[in-house]
Amino acid sequence: MAEPGADEKAMAQTLAVRLWGSRWLLAAGVVAILIAFASASAYVLVPALLLLLAAAMLPVAGTRQSAQGAAAMEAIGLQRLSGEYLAAAVADPLIIFDRAASIVHANAAAFAAFGGIAPGLSLSLKFRAPEMQALLDGVLSGNVASNVVDYTEKLPVERAYRVSASSVGHGTDLYVLVFKDQSEARRIDRMRADFIANASHELRTPLASIAGFIETLRGPARNDPAARDQFLQIMQSQTGRMARLIDDLLSLSRLEMKPYLKPGTEVDLRETVDSVIDSLGPLARENSVAIERDYADGPLDVAGDRDELFQVFENLLENACKYGQSGGRVVVSIARSGAGSEPGIDVTIRDFGPGIPEEHIPRITERFYRVDVETSRTQKGTGLGLSIVKHILTRHNARLSIKSEVGKGAAFSVHLPTHG
Ligand code: ADP
Repeated sequence: MAEPGADEKAMAQTLAVRLWGSRWLLAAGVVAILIAFASASAYVLVPALLLLLAAAMLPVAGTRQSAQGAAAMEAIGLQRLSGEYLAAAVADPLIIFDRAASIVHANAAAFAAFGGIAPGLSLSLKFRAPEMQALLDGVLSGNVASNVVDYTEKLPVERAYRVSASSVGHGTDLYVLVFKDQSEARRIDRMRADFIANASHELRTPLASIAGFIETLRGPARNDPAARDQFLQIMQSQTGRMARLIDDLLSLSRLEMKPYLKPGTEVDLRETVDSVIDSLGPLARENSVAIERDYADGPLDVAGDRDELFQVFENLLENACKYGQSGGRVVVSIARSGAGSEPGIDVTIRDFGPGIPEEHIPRITERFYRVDVETSRTQKGTGLGLSIVKHILTRHNARLSIKSEVGKGAAFSVHLPTHG
């Protein structure tokens, strides 16, 4: 939307700045010519002296002038910078409007975010929400130079914006609206609130049960040794549940504090997986599950943090022994994979239990998500195990894939890259 003749005007201004910068030299030249004409060759020294004087003055005045010149050039440059280019360089939706609240210009981000806008369209018709009307009225009335409101677009998808309106320059009669998308920040806030609500609920349930048993033990069961033993046992298991939950919450929070910290030591997967199997031996025996190993030959090392990878395989193998118990066996395999683009090592833990219905698989790594809450509780689950697994794998640049067929079992496969 450049003004006609704007380029010629700018060129003339640039020329004026250059001439002004060389004015001493020009003046000396003119005086020398005049003197030469007036006195023939009698005083040839005078013009030479004048020229010398001018040349001596130039460096002193030159630095000051070049600074002034640069400032003037910059001012000219800014005048030439079209509002259109400036608007296009802004990543957020931006709309310039006039005193009648009609759109004068909208950048590409605004066109992408709000369908059906065009120059000349009334903003009051486009954004009918009361908060937007108040925002426009505020700046157009001239009472405030700028103002900010929160505004939510409902369609096509809900998006929350913080919108600022301000007048542009002095006496331009133009105003600008800038929309800052807050949707992601709001989503994270909601997730955090949900998480706190879930964690509090998970802690409150065993706490309420313990409080109830304490009351019973102090009252009706005071003199009943059999009931006392039974209640104390339940209370012990409830405190164990709270302790597990707190441990998992702390693990998760530690991992979230440093999500991109890449672990750097070499981890021997064969040794790590073997020690996980050893540590879960008692649970496997208790659940009558046989653990089988199927490891590739040769070194099976990856870059990583041994304790964290131990936690990953421990969670997966524990789940396989608990939820896949009915299958009676679990196979742990370590194999090299993806010789081409993504070379790495796959550790797969496969059980032959009831499996996981397909619709649950995409959500299973979310915090507190369980396929069946009761089964998870009786199996001493916290609902955080796979979420911890996912966080650790992200830090290792690794991938988790879950395959399952209902009635046939589930396979959790971890792909750890061997370089890059
Ligand atoms: P939990 O502490 O409840 O075990 P996880 O995050 O480890 O939490 O697992 C989430 C849910 O995924 C479990 O509650 C269970 O319903 C399901 N699940 C995990 N592993 C298996 C498996 N091998 N077979 C069937 N279901 C599983």
